[in-house]
Amino acid sequence: MTAVASLNAGSSSIKFALYTADGVAEPALLSRGKIEKIGIAPRLVAHDAGGELLHEREWPDGRDLTHDDLLEDLFNGDVHPDASQVSAVGHRVVHGGIAFAAPHLVDETLLDALDRLCPLAPLHQPHNLAAIRALWRLAPKLKQVACFDTAFHHDMPTLATRFAIPRALHDQGIRRYGFHGLSYEYVARRLAEVDPVLASGRTIVAHLGNGASLCAMHGGKSVDTTMGFTALDGLMMGTRCGNLDPGVVLHLLMQMDMDAAAVEDLLYHRSGLLGVSGISSDMRTLSADGSPEAEEAIDLFAWRVAREAGALASSLGGIDGFVFTAGIGENHAEVRSRICQRLAWLGTEIDEIANASDAPRISLPSSAVTVRIVPTDEELMIALHTLSLIGEAA
Ligand code: ADP
Repeated sequence: MTAVASLNAGSSSIKFALYTADGVAEPALLSRGKIEKIGIAPRLVAHDAGGELLHEREWPDGRDLTHDDLLEDLFNGDVHPDASQVSAVGHRVVHGGIAFAAPHLVDETLLDALDRLCPLAPLHQPHNLAAIRALWRLAPKLKQVACFDTAFHHDMPTLATRFAIPRALHDQGIRRYGFHGLSYEYVARRLAEVDPVLASGRTIVAHLGNGASLCAMHGGKSVDTTMGFTALDGLMMGTRCGNLDPGVVLHLLMQMDMDAAAVEDLLYHRSGLLGVSGISSDMRTLSADGSPEAEEAIDLFAWRVAREAGALASSLGGIDGFVFTAGIGENHAEVRSRICQRLAWLGTEIDEIANASDAPRISLPSSAVTVRIVPTDEELMIALHTLSLIGEAA
């Protein structure tokens, strides 16, 4: 049996999934879960493929437990009996820079190159790489594969990669990269199965989770996206501001005496739905709240999605399809409905009954634009890449 694991290591959480593969069929999910609150009081929860609770553990006094300690626990067989059989691990790595357009087997040279990209994604990249190094120490023979969130956008048209700043800065890497690429790649792959005609056309995919972005796809390839140099750009998110006049940053620094760390904290952790509502970063909580502030935050979220979608529709020269994915996109009928109403001028006519039941296709037959829900699965995409690379390396 070949077992592979997908890991997505962040600053305070590690998401994981375990698959078995026979080399022919799609990898079969064995378990999926996460360790959260690392550095405070870690908590591990894992479910099997059917959603049954498989393993649950808390470390109330675990403030000093490191990612290394917790990764060791993940692979010792407690979480799933097959975890100790894992022959390869795929990692979500947020930044592949200009050099890495595809997943890559991990070696010293790769890690050195990825270390140099840490300043471009300081909140994510160091944790992604720390998990790879931790596993290296724990299991030096284990094959590891880095899968990049930027890779899907690597071949965007040059215009879509440029900021209007001096060329020399672009050449130094200050350009638009785009993120959520593993999610978009999975959705493109799935769309080719469920709706090949749409997959070959012009589609906007809306990845709406805590992090949120849009991708303009033509024939399954990214031609534009709302995130740019960092995962801060574009849509309003759970706690991130999204697109913001850069003059605001200058004002905060120069007129309001905030230092760079305070501005970073404000824009990444205290803005978005949380900042506008003053209540929560969680869309479900805001919907249940009903206050004018919560209502305005939801409305602004939908307005911003529609506004950015208009821009991407222009990059595509019109759209044939609109696809919702991730936590809000897959589950929140009201937000989908508001977005589609705002995009009605582009031809999105929603079937409210289909929408209310999270149906795979939520547009009316008469709609000029086909609107679909495609649940994303970044972990499966990582597992597929990992299997394909270790197959090639064997
Ligand atoms: P992450 O970017 O952390 O992976 P998710 O894709 O899980 O985030 O999305 C989290 C968002 O999805 C939250 O705002 C949450 O309220 C929303 N969400 C998740 N499930 C539901 C649901 N069943 N109904 C409405 N909203 C949901």
